[in-house]
Amino acid sequence: MKPLIGITACLEEEKSYKTGSSYVKAVLRAGGVPVLLPCAAGPEACKQLVNTVDGILIPGGVDSAPQLFGEEPLPQVSCMDGDLDRFELELIHRATDMGKPILAICRGCQIINIAFGGTLYQDIPSQLPEAQGHYQQTASRSEPYHMVSILPKTALAAALGEGELVTNSFHHQAVKRLAEGFRVCARTRDGIIEGIENSDGSILGVQWHPECMEERFPRFQRLFCAFIERAAKRP
Ligand code: MN
Repeated sequence: MKPLIGITACLEEEKSYKTGSSYVKAVLRAGGVPVLLPCAAGPEACKQLVNTVDGILIPGGVDSAPQLFGEEPLPQVSCMDGDLDRFELELIHRATDMGKPILAICRGCQIINIAFGGTLYQDIPSQLPEAQGHYQQTASRSEPYHMVSILPKTALAAALGEGELVTNSFHHQAVKRLAEGFRVCARTRDGIIEGIENSDGSILGVQWHPECMEERFPRFQRLFCAFIERAAKRP
């Protein structure tokens, strides 16, 4: 049996649950079986969902509510989804309780940090004007943009190799105060945190979108393969 990977799905326009097709394809290509986890599930259903899957993929999406880390939203933060926040926080905690691995991308990386007590820059351009652009306005989603350093001796380096690589970048928020029990595993030269992981690497978040690059740049597929391998080893 191939590992079953739950991917969170948000409610779109009050009528359908959706997740990005590139996440689904990336899981399939890496040897996993994807299943969508709709954010309507309450705590009981959420626990059962986590119990059923072998790993959780938390995709990119809208901004998380800054109230979750004790701040009021800046004007630049306008698109939020309270149901998705609540569901993903519940999922993250249940998956951690049950020892199931989590791969988190973009918004996913940010909500992981919030779930374990960290904070975010709500808007990089206004809060850190000295940082380079981290949002590639009109570029194709697979287009490489900025250099990211992968830190040695991390789970991310074990998957992708250490050193520098060029990634895409479609975010205006980033990890500010790192959650306790986590370490930085990737950074850009302007100091923005581009990857975080827990001590055993079972929870790994990246700020860029490897699912959009892996077809053109197969190196990024290794991130999904490492995650699926880990999920396959779970009891
Ligand atoms: Mn970036």
